Amino acid sequence: DRSPSRGLGDVYKRQVENRRRELMSDLTHELRTPLTVVRGYLEELADGSISPSTELYQNLIKETRRLERLTDDLQELSKAEAGYLSITLIPLSLLGLLQSLIEKFSDQLLEDGPVLELIYPPDIPLALADSDRTEQILVNLMGNALRYTKKGSITVEVSRSKNQVWIAIKDTGIGISEADLPYIFERFWRADRSRASYSGGSGIGLAITRRLVELQNGKIEVESELGKGSIFRFSLPLA
Ligand code: ADP
Repeated sequence: DRSPSRGLGDVYKRQVENRRRELMSDLTHELRTPLTVVRGYLEELADGSISPSTELYQNLIKETRRLERLTDDLQELSKAEAGYLSITLIPLSLLGLLQSLIEKFSDQLLEDGPVLELIYPPDIPLALADSDRTEQILVNLMGNALRYTKKGSITVEVSRSKNQVWIAIKDTGIGISEADLPYIFERFWRADRSRASYSGGSGIGLAITRRLVELQNGKIEVESELGKGSIFRFSLPLA
């Protein structure tokens, strides 16, 4: 059964309410920190105990940006979890999409940074997938690979199994420890606090990514070794 509505089956719908509840409590927690910081500064400005400075305003902007990013990410995630994201499954040719993303990301690479390459078999089969959502998945995974890889390579590799086409994003970056791997797709999860400030990430990207893969009836897997690199791979059904 490859009908577009399969990802929104009954079991899935029953879990939605629970997920939304969890999401609300996570959200409250994540929003509190920047809000507290902003209110603190504003109160001190108001009573004159600190004076305005460029640095202070920059801090306020930073915290506000964080709130913005968080709400954007959350909107995407809650749409994906509740099945509100429109998913239109069509026979999709992956090569054009992958080539244009490789080109786009190549522009962001530094001279001495990692090389970015695409490996694919001569006849990539058509996937039954949604073009925009597939792009979103790739942007998230390639963006992470770039963020956590200072040198070496980032390889996007397409392969096919019996009923699926697989896309793997391999990097030679900082990697993820074995203890952390099971939690990597949890929302708000980050390998450590320092990474969050390093990446400016909210730890929602992979939760969204997994949901987008599942909504297209695919699977997502990760392999990683600390200090060596990571492989994120996801499947899409064949058209
Ligand atoms: P964030 O927005 O914080 O990057 P994600 O959900 O995309 O959130 O990723 C969650 C965490 O997983 C990241 O904070 C990082 O610790 C780890 N991670 C994700 N991708 C990679 C990668 N390619 N290499 C190393 N660590 C990664």
